[in-house]
Formats: sequence, C-alpha cells, structure tokens
Amino acid sequence: MTKSIAFLDLPRQQARLGAALKRRVDAVFEHCCFVMGPEIVELEQKLAEFGGAQEAIGVSSGTDALLMILMAENIGPGDAVFLPAFTYTATAEVVLLLGAVPVFVDVTPDTFQIDLVSLRKRLADTKQAGRLTPRAIIGVDLFGQSAPWDELNAFAAEESLLLFADCAQSFGASYKGRRLGHEALATTLSFFPSKPLGGYGDGGAILTNDAERAALYRSLRSHGEGKTRYAVERIGLNARLDTLQAAVLLAKLEAFPEELERRDAIATAYDRGMPQGITAPARVADSASAWAVYNVLLAGAEQRDAVQAALKAVGVPTAVYYPKPLHHQPAYQAAHDGAALPVAESLGSRVLALPIHPELTDDEVEYIISALNAAMTGLPA
Ligand SMILES: *Cc1c(COP(=O)(O)O)cnc(C)c1O
Repeated sequence: MTKSIAFLDLPRQQARLGAALKRRVDAVFEHCCFVMGPEIVELEQKLAEFGGAQEAIGVSSGTDALLMILMAENIGPGDAVFLPAFTYTATAEVVLLLGAVPVFVDVTPDTFQIDLVSLRKRLADTKQAGRLTPRAIIGVDLFGQSAPWDELNAFAAEESLLLFADCAQSFGASYKGRRLGHEALATTLSFFPSKPLGGYGDGGAILTNDAERAALYRSLRSHGEGKTRYAVERIGLNARLDTLQAAVLLAKLEAFPEELERRDAIATAYDRGMPQGITAPARVADSASAWAVYNVLLAGAEQRDAVQAALKAVGVPTAVYYPKPLHHQPAYQAAHDGAALPVAESLGSRVLALPIHPELTDDEVEYIISALNAAMTGLPA
C-alpha cells in the first residue's frame, strides 16, 4: 500500500507535545508580558546550559543572530569574511548587508563541511589580491553535523581571525564529546520550525562565553540600548526573541534529548538499509549528529532525479540541499572573485535528503528504505 509520508510533521508533533505546549503558551496569555517576558530568561538559561556556554541571548532569527555578531565586531566595507560556499544563503547575506565581502570556501566531498585546505588557499589569495582585510571566519555546522572546530580554532588563532559558528542546523550535536554551543567566540542558533530544535515561527539565539560580547548582543537586539531603555549607545535592531516562541521552545527543549535519540536511530536504520550505488552520509569523526538533514549521495543528476521521482511516486518526499552553491547564485555573482570551488559545485546535482524527523514511525522508516531500494533496482515498491 502506498503511504503518504511528511517531510516535516508538525501536526503529529502537536499531538505528541500538545499538552506541554499549551501549558507554556497559556502562561504567557496569563501574564501578558509579550515582549521580553520571563520565558525569555528561563529559555536563555536552559539554552546556555544545554550548549555548555556562559550566556545565551534570545533573538528574532538565526539570520539576525549572524547579523548582530558581525555588527558587534564592526565588520563592514573593505572586510573579508570567510565561509563555506555550500550553506544556506543566510550565512553569506549578512556579510553583504554590512558592506563586507563573503569569501567562499570549498567543502570536503565526504562530510560537506568546510575544507581547511581550501580555506588556507582562499585566505592566501585574498591577502595576495590586497583589496580586502581578512577579519573573520564563519564556520557552519552543516546538516546536523559539526564543523572541524579544533582545526578552525587553530587556523583562526594562527591567522588572527575572529571565528564564529553558524550552528543553525546543528544544535544538539556534539564534537569530541562536547555539545556544540561553545566552540567559537559566538555560536548562532535558529529555531525555524524545520531545524532540530524548532519553534512555531521565527526565532534564534546567540551563545557565548564572553561577557562583553554578550552585553553587546543584548544591546544590539534592542535598538542599541544602554543601561536604560532610552539610553541609545549604538545603532541596533529590533531583533528580540518573542516571548510566545520562548514558551513554545521551553516545551520543545524538554523533549529535545529524546528527539535527538530518535533521529539518530532513524539515521542508523537508513545506513543499514542503504542500497548499492547510494552513499549514506559520512560522519564527521568523533562527533554525533543532530540529524537536521540525512543527505545521501548519488552518482549524478540523472540518477538523483530518477530516484527522487520514483520516491515521490510512492509518497516519499525528499529535498535537495542545496541545488547550487552560493557563489553560483545570482545574488553573489558580483561579490565573488571567480574562483572555482569544485566540490561545492558538484554536490548540488548529487545530493538527496530523505525525511528524518522524530515523528516517523518504524513502519514508515522501513517503507522509505524499501522504496529507496526499489527505486535503485527499478522495481515497484
Ligand atoms: C536556517 C539557517 C540560517 C538562518 O536561520 P533563520 O532562523 O531562518 O533566520 C542560517 N544559517 C544556516 C546554515 C541555516 O540553515
């Protein structure tokens, strides 16, 4: 029998967590502190603890979090910020919004994380061209896995560059036994509904161990305010996390450890059932994924598209993250120096993301595995 599987299943999530969610949201309607209510402080403490950081600052989105960490360093015209070409546009757009230039770096062909060899070369090229001042690296924890933080930290220290973490997709993952959240000067999170820790709307956070930066971020998210609301110390934003979202996230955070385990069990089942000819996602060494995305690799575009169509025909939705690397997107063309980034350029035609969320039943996981095997042998599921 053909099933109809959801790529993200918020109705089932509601059914599972509804009572806890309702209790939290009702409390906000009781006290009516809709902006910076007590749930914000409570969530910030819990996020900081979860990510092993001294401080967490709730903000309006993962994108605003990235924007503010760069604003806090006065990154602007003439500055270069190094980041992977294979990521979501938010990582790079904030750099251009501030008038600085994103320098795109290639990724590794197995884990899709930033490639240190390419990073070294891109920095050398940028220095040699002499037009930009290298200022910062944004490491991205892609698809639920960890970036190579030890190598990135060593490189950033050697080159006197600031290092930040875009952990929008990977909160809940760990690296060398450490939960992600404190590997860089600041770590940004997103609570977009499809992220592993997703809210019911937009939201984000910044984690840091640096008290001065934390104070700056708190000021920036609230119009650059000083000790009092009407002391304007700098140009800031209205980029606070909404109290209602914090309430939702407090309920979601309770269930998060179990959800991470469920995602990992599904990934293991997929690994075991992977047909010949499809490569299961390679794990970053000595780490645990939060499994935002389970991205398999096919031989090429034709095969990928055929498998995607065969899965769709039997009710299995998939997604392509990302069809094009950022340096090939129209919006980044003018900023890019023209360097080839061959791995990032080849992945778009070969990746395919299978559904992976805690609401999938064992039956559904088995069904997806059968459908994938059938798609590869050309047999009906
Ligand atoms: C989702 C995402 C963001 C942006 O987060 P929003 O909360 O949607 O603004 C930033 N970087 C990466 C890698 C993302 O996946």
